[in-house]
Amino acid sequence: MLIDAHIHLDKYKENDIPTLLEEAERVIAVSMNLLSSEKTLKLSKAYAKVKAAFGFHPEQPLPSEAEENALFDWIRQHAHDMVAIGEVGLPYYLRQEKAIDERPYVALLERFIGLAKELNKPIVLHAVYEDATIVCDLLEKHQLTKAHFHWFKGDATVIERMIHNGYFISVTPDCTYEAEIKQLIKKYPIELMMVETDGPWPFEGPFDNKRTSPWIMDHSIEVIASIKGLATHEAAQIITRNTTTFYNL
Ligand SMILES: [Zn+2]
Repeated sequence: MLIDAHIHLDKYKENDIPTLLEEAERVIAVSMNLLSSEKTLKLSKAYAKVKAAFGFHPEQPLPSEAEENALFDWIRQHAHDMVAIGEVGLPYYLRQEKAIDERPYVALLERFIGLAKELNKPIVLHAVYEDATIVCDLLEKHQLTKAHFHWFKGDATVIERMIHNGYFISVTPDCTYEAEIKQLIKKYPIELMMVETDGPWPFEGPFDNKRTSPWIMDHSIEVIASIKGLATHEAAQIITRNTTTFYNL
């Protein structure tokens, strides 16, 4: 069994969670906002396999100043109950839909990076393509080294920079059918790699119309193993060790 390094557990129906958790060694459950962080905290108290991360997902309208401050206060109060700050980052996909000013999103992310530094926790990042460069600038500026770019996609220059800085990425089941992700697996060292579902996000190809849950990561491991020229169990062992060490589980 594998560790799901990124799942939105609070978005599943409560009845589905016990059976879903049977498929994973552990899960890193990330949060969307304050309400979602409260739900994730409850799940982590109810199930030993659930490790919580608290944050604000960037692909949505910004919080008001009062909401933002309430979230930061709440995270500080519950810092001992979380393994990381997350999910945070920049709104790449929202920007493809409409013109938005990214500057306040960058400012909010910088505040989260400061919080991760203050609380000495890793950070879970949603930052793809050109946004990854901005995020690398911020991480370097604040000397935050424990960074996990989930479902990462980006160009060769930023990939090189991230490897040099020792940042981690995680691969979703789309590696089974996306050439771009196979290329990424080829370039990125397995020592800096994790696997995730980003569930309940639905996948295509062999996973069409199937519920996203941790079992599908078995397919990702097979892809990683074959690209890296390892046995499946060896790849699984390395990936699990990476996640355990990164999140201090
Ligand atoms: Zn996510």
